[in-house]
Amino acid sequence: MRKCYKCGQKATVYLPQHRIAFCKEHYIEWYLKRVEETIKEFRMFGKGDRVLVAVSGGKDSLSLWDALYRLGYDADGFYINLGIGEYSKRSQLACEKFANQRGLVLHVFELEKAVASVPALKELENRPACSFCGQLKRYYTNKFAKERGYKVVATGHNLDDETAVLLSNVLSWQMDYLSRQSPVLSEGEGFVRRVKPLVKFSEKENALYAFLAKIEYVEEECPFAEGASSIEHKKLLSLLEEKSPGTKLRFYMDFLRRMRPMLKAEQVALRPCSLCGEPTTGEVCSVCRLKERVAKASLSSSPSS
Ligand code: SF4
Ligand code: ZN
Ligand code: ZN
Repeated sequence: MRKCYKCGQKATVYLPQHRIAFCKEHYIEWYLKRVEETIKEFRMFGKGDRVLVAVSGGKDSLSLWDALYRLGYDADGFYINLGIGEYSKRSQLACEKFANQRGLVLHVFELEKAVASVPALKELENRPACSFCGQLKRYYTNKFAKERGYKVVATGHNLDDETAVLLSNVLSWQMDYLSRQSPVLSEGEGFVRRVKPLVKFSEKENALYAFLAKIEYVEEECPFAEGASSIEHKKLLSLLEEKSPGTKLRFYMDFLRRMRPMLKAEQVALRPCSLCGEPTTGEVCSVCRLKERVAKASLSSSPSS
């Protein structure tokens, strides 16, 4: 029987990459301490800063919001309803319930009202939903945070997400992407600071926290997530992790400490979009261009009078 490293009672959790076991109470304590240490290590934000947590209703983002709440940070939630049928309804409900139970503020943004639903856009654009969905989420989260005076946007990206992206960037030597891969993206030029306080936790560790902290999250994945290449990279890395626990954390942290400082980010000239004012490289930003295509499509499909 494994014993808790802290109190010696029967352990509930064993973390092979850290070779450490905890009971429920001390796992929660360890998790919270590690979140706080990560926030401080990467100078993400302080106790007086207003933080907007981008929540999806899943285990990672709700664990993040819960941890920030318990640690005493000033963190509100931001949920974007993507209009993906029952999945979006259940996810919104999970976020609302979470916020109500803790007396927290949740802002809900409806993509269908601002542009169109993700399924409708997929049909119109005829390309993978994630290619525009990620961009739309970033655009509206950033815009909302700026308008409402939030200092920083926090997302629930975990170690599995980050190492899958890292592997894919390394496999194709995407030097520019590599130079910008970081748990903190600085503010400036129309962008609010973006941080990822859960980068040192695996998906499993977040699921464990959510379970032990009694967070009611949505287990089902977005129906459009299937087939994304990141899933293959995640599987590959998990095989390596199984054989040699700690591989993912080493791969990611060594990249940040040893490789990234040697890379120089390409300077891209940004200017305000002539239609919405958000930062872009061209005259009109990609979200405004997408909105124009949506308007055109709905005009051509409406019956002529
Ligand atoms: Fe959007 Fe779903 Fe793709 Fe995530 S998996 S970016 S929610 S379409
Ligand atoms: Zn214990
Ligand atoms: Zn624009």
